[in-house]
This record gives sequence, C-alpha cells and structure tokens, in this order.
Amino acid sequence: MTPRLEINLDALSHNTRQLVTRLAPLGIALTAVTKVTLGDPVIAQRLLDAGATALGDSRIDNIRRLRDQGINAPCVLLRSPAPSQVDDTVRYADISLNTEPEILMQLSRAAVAQGRQHKVILMAELGDLREGIMATDLCEVAAICRNLANLELIGIGTNLACFGGVRPALNNMDELSWLAREVEASLGCQLQIISGGNSANFDWLTAEARSDIDPARQCQLNRVNNLRLGEAIYLGCETLHRTPLDGLRQDAFTLVAEVIESKTKPSVPKGDIGLDAFGKIPVFESRGDIQRSILDLGRQDIPPDGLTPDADGLEILGASSDHLILNSQHQPLNVGDEVRFQLDYAALLMAMTSPFVSKVYV
Ligand SMILES: *Cc1c(COP(=O)(O)O)cnc(C)c1O
Repeated sequence: MTPRLEINLDALSHNTRQLVTRLAPLGIALTAVTKVTLGDPVIAQRLLDAGATALGDSRIDNIRRLRDQGINAPCVLLRSPAPSQVDDTVRYADISLNTEPEILMQLSRAAVAQGRQHKVILMAELGDLREGIMATDLCEVAAICRNLANLELIGIGTNLACFGGVRPALNNMDELSWLAREVEASLGCQLQIISGGNSANFDWLTAEARSDIDPARQCQLNRVNNLRLGEAIYLGCETLHRTPLDGLRQDAFTLVAEVIESKTKPSVPKGDIGLDAFGKIPVFESRGDIQRSILDLGRQDIPPDGLTPDADGLEILGASSDHLILNSQHQPLNVGDEVRFQLDYAALLMAMTSPFVSKVYV
C-alpha cells in the first residue's frame, strides 16, 4: 500500500535510550513529546520503555487517545489549555503548562468538580515571545496557583527557539534557575520540575556539561532537571542548526510512494503560461527532454520541500495536491516502482496527520 509511512520502532527506542543516557549525568529527565505522532500509543510505549519519564503533547485529543489505549504514564499538556478544554485537561492530563491566572482558576474549579488533583508547571517568558509569564509577574502567579484548590504547583519551565528563534544558552537557562529559586523563596516550598526546553537545547547542554570546569557554578546555579524532546527522538537532530546528534539514528521514519506515470517529456511546459494550481507563475529551467516520474503523493499529504529521496539521482520538481513530480533522468523508474524518502519535521507531521498515508511499524 502506498503512500505509507514506515515507522522503525527500534530506531525510536535507540534514540530515546541514547538521549536518556546523555541527560542522566546532568540530572535531567526526559519528557517525550508525542504531538508529531498524534499520540500514537505504540510509539509512546516504546519511548516510555526506553526511559522517558513522562509524555508531552500539545493537543488534549492526543492525550485522550493515549489514555484510551491504556497508557498510564504521566501526561503533560504542552499547550496552555483553552477554556473550552479545561474539563478534558483535568480528566486526561496529569500536568499542564500554564500562563494565565484565569485558566488556573478554571482548572481548579474543574479539578474540584471531578474530585481530582491537577499539577501545574508555570511557563516563564524568557525572550522568545511565545507563551510565558513575564519574569516580574511569576511569583505573583505562582502564589495564586498555590492557593487554588486541587491544583499543585510542581514547577516552572520555559520554551525558546520557537517563535522568536531565541537560542537556549547559559544566560537564559541560568535565568530560569534563578527564577526557580525566587519562586521557592517567595512561596517557601521546593519546586520538583524545572523544565528547560526542547530539541533546541543541545548547545546549552554541551555548555552546561562543560561548565563543570567551574564546579561551584554547576551545583549552585543550574536547576534545570527536565527537557521536553520531540524532534531529537524522531529525527535524531537538534533543531537550532538541524545537525544530526552523535550516536542517534536519522532513519526512524521513511515515506514510501509509488510511480504512477513514467515518461520522457520536455523539461519546460508548452503553451501560454498562466497561474499554476496554487496561484503561482511557475518557472522552469530548460534541460531538454528528461525522464519524468509521477508519484501517488501530493500537497494534501506532505510539503514537497520537506522530502529528501533516499536514492541519489532523483530530483523533486514539484507537486500538485495529489501528484509528486520527479526528474528521474539519472535514476530511471518504472510504473509500480516504490520510491523512498526521508522527511523533515513538518513533512513528518503532515504525513502522520494525512488520513491518506498509511502507517506501518517495521
Ligand atoms: C513541541 C513542543 C516541544 C518539543 O519540541 P521539539 O522541538 O520537537 O523537541 C517542547 N515543548 C513545548 C511546549 C512544545 O510545544
């Protein structure tokens, strides 16, 4: 069956184990982020078996799917809950990341009504300008949270390198540790979780690991004891420079499509050129006649620029909603041949989401 996404579970186990091993000496636990898998319970179980201590997802529907399939590990809702989803957040997630006092009050009311406890990590704004409480307001919101019935404030966190592209580094991670101390001092309690970020935190990790040149700094300053990682597990890359991580596999996911037409045709269209199917005026380089192959995959399933063919000599020329068009001049293909691709994170997310792409564990 094509198109299909082949999911190598052993590669995912391997990557998770490697990351857990790398983080352990720094006292950092791994929350495995499942959003790109739409909360796939088979994958989630592998990540837990390989040492992840919790699962994180941005969508409550994905967490619900994990629960419905019998996953009992702690689940963290990564995107601040919408008021309409406060009830489900308390029902299905153990922990949520929050920034708004109004939502905290609603979570508290829902938790009381359901007779449950709900745990909260408050997100601090450290410059990236996505979600986060301004540093000057953090203690005040922490105090509000602490006083709300059936809510337990378990930690603080931050998320960088998402909207503003701000790099996680010693300075902003130290600021997070400093904020943790400040919250603890003002509330007179100990925070369990200081969650430092995502797959963009590897440069910081390296710097942090090296900072034992100054032992005083490391034990007194760094309080980060949790990272929430998705892309590093799935693609084996960090996200600041998209460099492959040492010892990790980059081949956990492979997208496979099938040739539905293969013909020698000109490299430039013939006739008056108007707008293409997506409202653009296409530009073509003249290379004479070439062998062109069409695959059963399109923009409804993937962003074509997020794909890299496994075989050398294949070039993606473009895609319509349903057709991916290749220059196969140097790697001739026949109708029915299968073509394999590696995916970037956006392509992986779309392939996972498309109901037209079947998912196969290998
Ligand atoms: C998606 C997400 C992550 C994981 O990001 P990766 O780059 O895939 O590691 C971590 N934290 C939050 C809040 C997220 O939304």
